[in-house]
This record gives sequence, C-alpha cells and structure tokens, in this order.
Amino acid sequence: MQYEGTTYRPPPEADTPLLQVTVGCAHNRCTFCDMYRDVRFRQIPLDQVEADLKELRCIFPSAERIFLVNGDAFVLKTSALKKIAALIHRIFPECQTISMYASIRDIKAKRDEELGELKDLGVNDLYVGIESGWDMVLERINKGHSAADAKEQLERLNRIGIHHIANLMLGVAGMGNGIENARHTAKLLNQTQPSLIWVGTLAIFEGTALHMEMEQGSFLPATELEILAEEKALIDAITLENVRFYGVHPTNTVRVSGTLPQDRRAMLAAIDAGIEKVGVETLSAAFARSSL
Ligand code: SF4
Repeated sequence: MQYEGTTYRPPPEADTPLLQVTVGCAHNRCTFCDMYRDVRFRQIPLDQVEADLKELRCIFPSAERIFLVNGDAFVLKTSALKKIAALIHRIFPECQTISMYASIRDIKAKRDEELGELKDLGVNDLYVGIESGWDMVLERINKGHSAADAKEQLERLNRIGIHHIANLMLGVAGMGNGIENARHTAKLLNQTQPSLIWVGTLAIFEGTALHMEMEQGSFLPATELEILAEEKALIDAITLENVRFYGVHPTNTVRVSGTLPQDRRAMLAAIDAGIEKVGVETLSAAFARSSL
C-alpha cells in the first residue's frame, strides 16, 4: 500500500480496510483543522487504486466493508467513484458497503440520480462533518455550509436511502456557548436522522487559524466542565429513536456510548461520574490537546 500523507479514519472503522483514493482534503479551510495542511489535494490514479486493492486482498481474505480515505473522498466526481466502486466489487465481490468522509458541499454537488447510482453500487454510511447545527459556529470555523444546507442535503441522502453518520465537535462554539450549541445541533440531528452520532472534542492545534484567534483573544476555549455540560445537554435534547451515540473519541475527557433513548440516563450518569472522578476544580480549566 502506498498511503501518501497522514491518513485519518473514524474510530468506528478501526477494523475496516482503508483504500486511499485522494490525498489531503479539497476544502482544507476549516479553521480548527491541521490534518492535511502539509499536502496538496489530488486524486490517486485508478491504476494505483487497483494495485492497492489487490494488495489489500492479500491482507484481507474477505471484506464486507471498505473505507475510502482521505479527508473528503466524496468530493470525487460520480464517474470516478463509480470506477472505484467497480474495481472494489471486482476484487472484493463480497463487499456490501463503501464508506468515506463526505462534506455537505460534496453531497450538494451530486444530482439525485448520481446519489442513487452510488447507493446502488454500495456507497453508504457517509461520515459527514456537521460539527455544529448553529450558523454562528459554522461561519466562524469556515465549515463551508450552513445549518439549512446541512438539513437539505442530509434529507436528500435520507430520501435516496444513503445512511450518514453525524460527526460533531463539542466545545467548538467556545466559552459560554456550549448549551446553545447543543440546542441547535440537537435540532438539526432530530430533523435529519443520522444512523450514528459520533462526538469528538475541539482540539486547538498550533498553526491553525483558530489557534491564532485564541492567541489574539477573539476565541475563548470552553472549560472541560462546560464541554461536558454541552454533551449532557446534547444527549438530553436528542429525540431520535434507536440511534447510537458514540462519544468515545480520544479527544473526549469522559468517554460514553450507548443507544438513545434507552441508554440516555446511563450516559448522563457516566458523565456525572466522570466529573466527580476528575473533580470540578480540575475540569474548570480549558485542556490543551496536542494530538487527535
Ligand atoms: S475538518 Fe474535514 S473538511 Fe475541514 S479541513 Fe479538515 S479534513 Fe477538510
């Protein structure tokens, strides 16, 4: 395998074969993100993808699921994704699901017929970087979409039958804004029915635009206590039935997961227990996270 640049994949895909189809991220402008700053976006040539797939086949005798990396692989044109899917099905005929990161813009750029064709080829379980459902936050972090865009595009995916995983970022609204952010985000989730809610916590890395804002005092990071209160408010406000809440990201101070609504009380109690264990005094500061 010839992975180029650092490769990131979502924690739930830890056991899934990773196939690189792009280098970097085509957007690469979210103010908090330093994942792909060192590489220029490009598509991996198809003959390389085919060679990597053959190599993957030697490592994985069977794979019902394949995850395409990197940052926003769904940005590729439908024709390119169809060719990649055809190669996957030729080399891994048992593969049922082709998953990847997708931005709201990438979904918007594809017509319904294109989304339907991709669904028929097994493209499903798209990880969508929603981060927040609050326009004030989305604009500030330069996410490239509004809450209304997210609602519209995720509803399109639902109509077409492509499931999505909502990637959220606790603490992204900054000091004093966590509860309001949870309210906006829960509203969007309740409207758009993700199949899984995946929650991480904002990390502010040196060299990012957000780090500069913090240095200048125009962005004040939330304390850990606020972030955990935000997570509790989010869990409390989700009214969806039978949706998995996965809050086990390495950036999270207290790790909780369960299915809503049945595990709501247990998850809220686990966060309270975590607060008690670490201590309110310790959690009343903003923690510096140096890696994902
Ligand atoms: S957060 Fe995702 S979409 Fe934004 S720059 Fe980083 S990889 Fe690209």
